[in-house]
Amino acid sequence: MASSAPPPIDFLADVREIVVVHSAKGGVGKSTVAANLAVALARKGAAVGLLDGDIHGPSIAHMFGDASPPAAAPRPGSVLPRERHGVKFLSIANVAADGAPIIWRGPMVSQALGQLLGGIDWGTLDVLVVDMPPGTGDAIIGLGQSVTLSGVVSVTTPSTMSLADTYRGIQGFEQLSVPVLGLVENMSEFVCDDCGERVGLFGEGVGERASLELGIPFLGRLPIDPAVVTGSDTGTPIVATDPDGPIGRAFDAIAGALTAELASRGRGGAGDFEVTWESLEKGVVRADPPTPAAETARGGSPQTAVAVWQAADTVLGIRWGDGATTYHGTYELRKACPCAGCVEEWTGEKLPSLDQVPADVRPVRIRTVGRYALQPTWSDGHDTGIFAFRELRAGAGRVDAP
Ligand code: ADP
Repeated sequence: MASSAPPPIDFLADVREIVVVHSAKGGVGKSTVAANLAVALARKGAAVGLLDGDIHGPSIAHMFGDASPPAAAPRPGSVLPRERHGVKFLSIANVAADGAPIIWRGPMVSQALGQLLGGIDWGTLDVLVVDMPPGTGDAIIGLGQSVTLSGVVSVTTPSTMSLADTYRGIQGFEQLSVPVLGLVENMSEFVCDDCGERVGLFGEGVGERASLELGIPFLGRLPIDPAVVTGSDTGTPIVATDPDGPIGRAFDAIAGALTAELASRGRGGAGDFEVTWESLEKGVVRADPPTPAAETARGGSPQTAVAVWQAADTVLGIRWGDGATTYHGTYELRKACPCAGCVEEWTGEKLPSLDQVPADVRPVRIRTVGRYALQPTWSDGHDTGIFAFRELRAGAGRVDAP
C-alpha cells in the first residue's frame, strides 16, 4: 500500500453501492452504526464490505476483533480485505504500524482514503459501507469526487446540540448534491432490564420529526444498551451475538429501510429480476419460470434465487440455486412484511396496520434488490418491505404449489 501515486480505483467496478456513514459530532455512535449495519446487511445475505475511513480515530478493526495486516492481493500494491462476522473489512489500523499515532490533515484525509480504497481488492459487493470521520463532511465530499457514492447515512443522538449539527451537515450534503439516504437516531431510549419499560431521554419522535423537516427518510432508532459497548470492546458487534435482541432487531429494520431506499433510487440497486404482476385466470399455473428473461446462470447456493416469476394469480414462484422451487402467496407475503411500518422494530410484534391489509392485495411489481432480496410494490400502495432471500427460503409467506 506504500506506493506514492494512488492506483486507479477500479477495484470498485463490482461494488454496487457505496454508503457512507456520517455524523456531525464524535461519540454519537457512528462507528457502532457502521459496524452493526454492515453485519445486519450481511445477515440478510448481502455481500458487504466495510471500510474504516475514520482515519483519525479508526475503531472498526477493534470492533471486529482483528487488527492483523491484510494479505497481499494478486495485483502488486493491493491487498485483500480481512473478513469477520460475514463482512469484508479493512481499517487503517490494519495497515498502520501497531499503535503508531495517525495524524492526517485537510486534503491528506481524502487522499489517504482514496489510496486506501484504490488498493483494496473487494471483489463483488452489494454494499460497501464506509465509516467516515465526524465533522462537516469535507472528507466525504472529497471522497465523492473520486468515487460515485450512493449516499450518506447520518447518525445523530436526539440531543438538541447533536441535532443542530446534523441539520447543518445534511443541508451541506444536499447543496453539494451528495444524496442523503436517511437518518439514524442513536441512544434514543433506555430500556429497563427488569421491567422492559422504555425511558425516553429526549422526548418522543425526535428523529422522525427531524427527518420530516429535512425531507429525508428516517431509517430507524436505537435504544441505549450497555451490551453495545461490550460487543464493540470484545470484537463482536452486538448484531452478530444477539440478532434477536432489541438492538439486533432495530439494526435489521434499519438495514431493511436502507435497502429499500437504495432500491428506490435505482443506482445499481436494481437486481436481476423484475416481475410485473398480471391478472391470471383461476387454474392458470406456470410451474416453471419463463426463460431466459427471468433466469440467470448464477446459482449453486440454496439461498440464491436463480429465478423469480408469477406462478399463478396469487402465487410467486422462486427457483433456488440448488434446484428447489418454493411458492409464496401474495396475501401471505404482504402480511409477513418485515418493514418498520408493519412490525415494531424493537420487539418484532406485528403492528395494527397489518390488520388493514385487504384480502385481495396483489403485487403491482416485484423486483430484486442486489443479489439478496425482493422488494414488492403492492396494490395497497405499500413498498417499503424488503424480503431477504434467506427469509423467503426459510419460509416467509410460503404456500403449497399451485
Ligand atoms: P462515534 O463513531 O460517533 O465516535 P462510537 O460508535 O465510537 O461513536 O460510539 C461511542 C461510544 O458509545 C462507544 O463506546 C459505543 O460502544 C457507545 N455506544 C454507541 N451506541 C450505543 C448504544 N446504542 N447503546 C450504548 N452504547 C452505545
